[in-house]
Amino acid sequence: MTHSFDVAVVGAGIVGLAHAWMAARRGLSVVVFDRTTRAVGATVRNFGMVWPIGQPAGELYRLALRSRELWLELQAAQAVAANQCGSLHLAHHADELAVLEEFCAKQTHDCRLLSVRETLQHAPIANPDGLVGSLWSPTELRVDPRVTAASIAAWLQADYEVRVNTATPVVSVRDGILTSADGQQWRARRTVICSGSDLHTLFPDVLQSSGLVLCKLQMLRTVAQPSIRQQAHVASGLTLRHYHSFEDCASLASLRKRFAEQNADLDRYGIHVMATQSANGEFILGDSHEYGDRISPFDKSQIDDLILQELRKIIRLDDWTIKERWHGVYAKHPHQPIFEAEPQPGVHVCVGPGGAGMTMSFGLAERAWSRWTWTRLCSCPNSSGRSESWHCLSEMMCTACMVLSTAWFWWRPVPEAEVGWHTTQTFCVLTL
Ligand SMILES: Cc1cc2nc3c(=O)[nH]c(=O)nc-3n(C[C@H](O)[C@H](O)[C@H](O)COP(=O)(O)OP(=O)(O)OC[C@H]3O[C@@H](n4cnc5c(N)ncnc54)[C@H](O)[C@@H]3O)c2cc1C
Repeated sequence: MTHSFDVAVVGAGIVGLAHAWMAARRGLSVVVFDRTTRAVGATVRNFGMVWPIGQPAGELYRLALRSRELWLELQAAQAVAANQCGSLHLAHHADELAVLEEFCAKQTHDCRLLSVRETLQHAPIANPDGLVGSLWSPTELRVDPRVTAASIAAWLQADYEVRVNTATPVVSVRDGILTSADGQQWRARRTVICSGSDLHTLFPDVLQSSGLVLCKLQMLRTVAQPSIRQQAHVASGLTLRHYHSFEDCASLASLRKRFAEQNADLDRYGIHVMATQSANGEFILGDSHEYGDRISPFDKSQIDDLILQELRKIIRLDDWTIKERWHGVYAKHPHQPIFEAEPQPGVHVCVGPGGAGMTMSFGLAERAWSRWTWTRLCSCPNSSGRSESWHCLSEMMCTACMVLSTAWFWWRPVPEAEVGWHTTQTFCVLTL
């Protein structure tokens, strides 16, 4: 047995790193494991779009906005670079504009419609042919997917003393003991399984019966476009079929019908098109969606051609030379933003944020840790570990403080109330 930790996280993709960060923020000692030497999963293969506008109104949009705040917190801590670029859904057809108008009228999201002139100011790459307007949302961020996971892991190590064990496949978790493929073992009071698209190694029975499905996406990257500077992410009318935020719009039906009649392969391969420009001037372009048994290890040039064909309708680039092609695979639950289960006491499975892992992981991890902390608080007398007990005690004290200070705030006259409020708040922070 090598070491004991409060928390072990399996998987150093964005979901694992988010859970590791939330644990470390609580003062817990954390160890992270990944089977590879550097991240190669969905977290490095994506667009790097933090995309709250795609989340339906209510809890999920709120969680996406909370994740956004946490990304900006990471940026302030110089852990990552997060560009507040916003996004544009370009409309090149009357039915696309109708969906955008209907969506905007609901006033559930922070967004507004732009005229053609305003659109071309925000999106110099927008194809003016047939352009009828766009939807501007200021909430989207751009992070560099190729470096972000490594940067967060390095920051967690440096600032929170999180231990990151790469090249360490975990093959079993039992009674608080994690065992790697080479037989090494670690003890952890709480284990969080964030194993991405691997549904076979850890708790395969739970994951196989979870309803999770795998989804494969094809992506492309152009050569640099030095004379273009496109700040906002750009999406097309096809994207309105993809994200749940637009699902309630009655006008979506005729748009769906038009695309289905235009080319059945758009639906067959789940194609919707988006573009984002990296800091070095290259554009990341995508994407397609093939599910379950349809996933092949080999990419289809037909899909790449379709993506490029649709993109050429909505944007203009100086040079469409494709520098790189790749695909990524993620796990997705049909109804939940992420699949969560507790197959053993103190072992949490958190897998499958689908196409929104960069957007949702921090908010989802924060929510999960609040829930787990509350459970621990309620079961405090059974807690055996010193560290858990200390945190449990401090959280109890903080809760008591909050109750007392709130009572004080409401029932005492000002200014004593304010003094008391600030004193108890300070005590709470110190206790945490
Ligand atoms: C092409 C593409 C584009 C996307 N674009 C966006 C986007 O723009 N915005 C957005 O919000 N989301 C996007 N997504 C979704 C997002 O990338 C994923 O939801 C997210 O990266 C999933 O993170 P993860 O940590 O669950 O998985 P992963 O990043 O795959 O990480 C899982 C890790 O667990 C490790 N692991 C698994 N099993 C074990 C084990 N037994 N022992 C040790 N290590 C193990 C793996 O090695 C891997 O590193 C996109 C996804 C793809 C594929």
